[in-house]
Amino acid sequence: MSTPADCRACGACCFSDSPTYVRLLGDDWSLLGPEAERWAWFEANRAYLRMEAGHCAALAWSHDPGSGAVRFHCSIYDRRPTLCRELGRGSPECEAERERKQAEVLRRVTA
Ligand code: SF4
Ligand code: SF4
Repeated sequence: MSTPADCRACGACCFSDSPTYVRLLGDDWSLLGPEAERWAWFEANRAYLRMEAGHCAALAWSHDPGSGAVRFHCSIYDRRPTLCRELGRGSPECEAERERKQAEVLRRVTA
């Protein structure tokens, strides 16, 4: 499975059924600014991104009207948390995410 040239063609690492999938670290909450409570929630003293329907609540996607290809979009890209910033496209962690999730992700967004 070759690494896509653009994360917008993939989205795999933004999918999970775990409500505590993306932990907010350090200044991540502050970085989200006034919208922090829209995108994040607390469990005890730990903050996480909200998840809904098996993916991060900040993830959106659309279908290219010409090709029909799916294009993913992070609604908070400039303010995305540390964990998202540190997951480099093409890294072993990225490859593992794609290997585990890509087929199911494509099934979900094209169903
Ligand atoms: S970092 Fe990897 S798994 Fe995440 S969207 Fe980009 S290509 Fe997909
Ligand atoms: S904040 Fe953006 S990059 Fe991070 S999991 Fe959510 S949609 Fe994906």
